[in-house]
Amino acid sequence: MSAMPPFTDLDARSAVGDGPAGEATAGRVAPRGVDTTHGAILYLDDVTVSFDGFKALNGLSLDVGVGELRCIIGPNGAGKTTMMDVITGKTRPTSGTAFFGQNIDLTRLAESEIAAAGIGRKFQRPTVFEAHTVFENLELAMKADKRVRPTLFSRLTGEQADAIGETLALIRLEDAVWREAGLLSHGQKQWLEIGMLLMQQPLLLLLDEPVAGMTDAETERTAELLNTLRGRHSLVVVEHDMDFVTRIAGGGKVTVLHEGSVLAEGTMAQVQADARVIEVYLGR
Ligand code: ADP
Ligand code: MG
Repeated sequence: MSAMPPFTDLDARSAVGDGPAGEATAGRVAPRGVDTTHGAILYLDDVTVSFDGFKALNGLSLDVGVGELRCIIGPNGAGKTTMMDVITGKTRPTSGTAFFGQNIDLTRLAESEIAAAGIGRKFQRPTVFEAHTVFENLELAMKADKRVRPTLFSRLTGEQADAIGETLALIRLEDAVWREAGLLSHGQKQWLEIGMLLMQQPLLLLLDEPVAGMTDAETERTAELLNTLRGRHSLVVVEHDMDFVTRIAGGGKVTVLHEGSVLAEGTMAQVQADARVIEVYLGR
């Protein structure tokens, strides 16, 4: 190494291991070290979250495979948002374990460290930079990626420009690329925010009710978008809209939460035919 790079938090963290700090390659530091050799990206085991004795999660166990699109459904109060909060480090479990791959203990990391490790979360309300264009929003999201060396005043590399172009096509905002984000429809803002998360190349993407407040046409397009992401990313989608879940679940696994634990798991057809599910959720 000829010259020492400036000392940053990132350098401090990568220097903790036994070898030399990860070399920057094409603006990126070494991979985030998530061990998915057993095929799963997320393991929740017997997770309980008590709020003053009330168990929002009660012995919740759940595995999500690499490249899987997992839909989580369940009545209000089932614990869906609390589960997302545990995965992202916003809430600590009272007991139980939460691992990202086999090796990253989510219960020991700060929220920012979990994001840097590769878990992206989309909250229900869109949070885009309204005064900036669609293009600038995607560019800012890419530069906010802590794994990219700060490149202030530098031009985008060809690779970075290509990544923005690909994302624009995916979220179907090519025609709106120079529009201010504040002028987009609600659905377009939601897609832009999904695009911003994708720019950070998350290994696992969590979406909380992505189609809430969307028109039918926007809901349909969102289903198409998520179907495109299937297999390319690992996704956990929490959703109330059953038609939408049916469209994105395909033959994949759907998990039904109830009173803080898994009530049923199977294909959409299987869980819809499950008498317990009908009783607590679909029959309401
Ligand atoms: P869902 O997202 O499935 O509707 P939540 O995870 O938001 O469910 O909530 C699960 C249960 O835990 C609800 O009964 C809710 O009122 C309760 N709860 C959630 N967060 C807290 C908190 N911070 N303090 C007390 N109770 C909470
Ligand atoms: Mg919720």
